[in-house]
Amino acid sequence: MRRLLLLMTTQTYRATAFLNAARRLGVSVVVGSERPQALAAANPAGHLTLDFFAPEEATRTIVEYAQTHRIDAVVAADDDGTILAAMASAALGLPHNPVAAVEDARNKYRMRQCLAAAGIPGPRFWRFAIDRDPADMARQVSYPCVVKPLSLSASRGVIRADEPAQFVAAFHRLIAILRQREILASRGAAAREILVETFIPGPEVALEGLLTDGRLRVLTIFDKPDPLDGPFFEETIYVTPSRFPRPMQEAIVASVSAVTAALGLRHGPIHAELRVNEHGPWLLEIAPRSIGGLCSYALRFADGISLEEVLLRHALGLDVTCLERERVASGVMMIPIPQAGILREVSGQEGARRVPGIEDVRITIPVGREVVPLPEGSRYLGFIFARDETPHSVEVALREAHRQLSFVITPAQASHGQEEGQSSVTSRVDPLRLVQP
Ligand code: ADP
Repeated sequence: MRRLLLLMTTQTYRATAFLNAARRLGVSVVVGSERPQALAAANPAGHLTLDFFAPEEATRTIVEYAQTHRIDAVVAADDDGTILAAMASAALGLPHNPVAAVEDARNKYRMRQCLAAAGIPGPRFWRFAIDRDPADMARQVSYPCVVKPLSLSASRGVIRADEPAQFVAAFHRLIAILRQREILASRGAAAREILVETFIPGPEVALEGLLTDGRLRVLTIFDKPDPLDGPFFEETIYVTPSRFPRPMQEAIVASVSAVTAALGLRHGPIHAELRVNEHGPWLLEIAPRSIGGLCSYALRFADGISLEEVLLRHALGLDVTCLERERVASGVMMIPIPQAGILREVSGQEGARRVPGIEDVRITIPVGREVVPLPEGSRYLGFIFARDETPHSVEVALREAHRQLSFVITPAQASHGQEEGQSSVTSRVDPLRLVQP
């Protein structure tokens, strides 16, 4: 039986989808994650504890394991495992991305440098050490701009500033995130610098692709119909197929191909985000992994095959060229967290599910848990999925389903008082407000 090493953090959204895909393919799985798994003791050969941020050492652990348990493919479910996946695949002689290419893609400054050196148009950008005087930085950059961390994901810490005072405020907010203990510990030098880019206007798209020996195959292009103008950049709706005219879609694909070539990415999935305006497509980010969260459920390939199954087949060297995405339109809405506090109640799920075109509504944060919105947070309240005849009807269904939902979030400190019988502020959030800036 072939064996797959699946690298995923204990925080991953993707475990079920990847494990189901492995089961369908009859592949045995060893899970590599940063902490021992709950059931590891029952099946020690099925789990490896690996520090994704110490990839050399983790690679040694993997190579040692592989001496007694042959590994046929290494797949990273999330961003954090991508460098280790490349390094371990290299050590095991499996097809992989060059480690340096993945490191460049994981570091937003190095990515911008690499693309600029290759002559690929991009925003102006500046890198600053976090101990510099922010007022001084604010004088050097152009506006509007975006202040961002070098190596976080899910738009965490990404903040727009239109003038120097906003820049200074954004800087302090980002620094507070970077100084969190677990970020300092895991990101090292990358947490001691920030990146500033000029703001690129225009609607956004996301491209899912698969590289084989450096050749890009497009799995799909998602439109993001909600404007992303800041100051924070929470993702909401993704709809496929894209409604952009064919020449623009071709330009998007050409741009992503040029970017993968410039970075040297060659093998496995890529997820790219771009803005589109009168000058053409502009790359915002590219990651050597597939789409995050539960969004992959929006994609189905021939006979209902999941994205994860396509990726595992590819990683195992099987031919996937004949697997096309289904013809119907499909979409997902990531439900943003509207305010910080404790999630107390979620209602309207049945109504949301009854909206024509809606396939599923998944609330992924349990009631009683603390919720943190952007720019500090990196999770969503949940996901809504729709399939219908056209991208437009999918978008309408997602918005209507979201309107049906309501969330009660109480401030975190007040919740202690509430347990002691004191009053607490309860806010019923109108979901509509969230998607219309
Ligand atoms: P992450 O990897 O955390 O998602 P990104 O660099 O992709 O961080 O930024 C997240 C979002 O912030 C983007 O999808 C986009 O909406 C916005 N953004 C980032 N950089 C720019 C930019 N230079 N111009 C306009 N929007 C940007």
